[in-house]
Amino acid sequence: MSVADTEKELKGGLRYGPYVTLDEIRGLAAEMTWKCGVVNIPFGGAKGGVICDPEKLSTGELERITRRYTAEILDYIGPERDVPAPDMNTNEQTMAWIMDTYSMHVRHTVTASVTGKPLDLGGSRGRREATGRGCMIVCDQALKRFGRDRQSTRVIVQGCGNVGSQAARLMHEAGYKIVGVADIHGGVLNTHGLGIPALLEYVKENKTVKGFPEGDPTNAQEILEQDCEILLPAAIESVINSKNAARIRARILVEGANSPTTPPADDILFERGVFVVPDILANAGGVTVSYFEWVQDRQGYFWPEGIVNDRLKQIMVAAFNDVVQYGEKHNVNNRIAAYMLAIDRVAFSVKLRGIYA
Ligand code: NAD
Repeated sequence: MSVADTEKELKGGLRYGPYVTLDEIRGLAAEMTWKCGVVNIPFGGAKGGVICDPEKLSTGELERITRRYTAEILDYIGPERDVPAPDMNTNEQTMAWIMDTYSMHVRHTVTASVTGKPLDLGGSRGRREATGRGCMIVCDQALKRFGRDRQSTRVIVQGCGNVGSQAARLMHEAGYKIVGVADIHGGVLNTHGLGIPALLEYVKENKTVKGFPEGDPTNAQEILEQDCEILLPAAIESVINSKNAARIRARILVEGANSPTTPPADDILFERGVFVVPDILANAGGVTVSYFEWVQDRQGYFWPEGIVNDRLKQIMVAAFNDVVQYGEKHNVNNRIAAYMLAIDRVAFSVKLRGIYA
């Protein structure tokens, strides 16, 4: 399935999973429109999904599924139409297969047909880390508002895939104290701070955080309710819901994942004064550097990593300030402010274009 919902070039991740549904993909495609609006980049929203269980598939099977899916949606994708990127259970290799399949069909290499590709095939420096780096940038901005420093800030990360592992690594390197990490199989807590490089090495070898010896074992649900200043869900949707929202102890929630908080939970968090950085702002670093990758591919001119990271920071800081100021001006929470801002921007463009009747 593949879903797109505006008339510009479109952008969105492709996810694989046994329980992917069309409604989920539709919802995520709409979110992508607003996400691009929040960071003010010139894309509409899209998303793709394939129902399969990657944990049970061989590399050859994954490649064949990816190539067949690409061939089926060939007429709907392309650098001027819809540009897929990685999401849950897809990665640089998946993007390489899509780019190659697309290029074979159109008879020339089109690197700008996907983003999140390997560097050697026209990927952008900094793309792998971009979503996690964006999460860290908004954490830094939130800390500024609370007058806190990184060293005294405890962070818990749920999910240790692309977003969670990179956020944990970058934030650890920057001085944050990562006190818990969990994935679908299990997790680990250490109030003194986890050694993130060792943990990520362990995950590389064991394919899970579960069993990492330097801390106390926990699981993906329990970890959300532990003591910390920043909670960073970076796995799946609806993990913070009406059942556990009252027990969330973090003062700042940074939504690395898409839709980790249900609407009833959102109300509970708002009443309890939790500062929420909503998904369409918090994890927009990925689509921002995907935009940079698309620009670089189209120009055939590749930027140094420092430039990518500086430009990402500029965009994320501006978007954070725009959302928070919008919220203060209209007396609404950050999530509503982010939607209002994005819808305003899209509506303004639609009005400028007018109606071709
Ligand atoms: P990934 O497949 O690389 O990693 C997913 C992680 O979540 C894994 O550690 C997995 O074990 C864990 N997980 C899966 N199901 C879980 C469950 N039921 N409970 C707890 N943990 C579970 O995926 P990713 O690319 O890191 O994406 C994570 C989230 O971030 C998704 O919501 C995705 O839409 C969103 N996102 C990703 C990007 C990106 O650039 N990859 C950009 C924006 C948003």
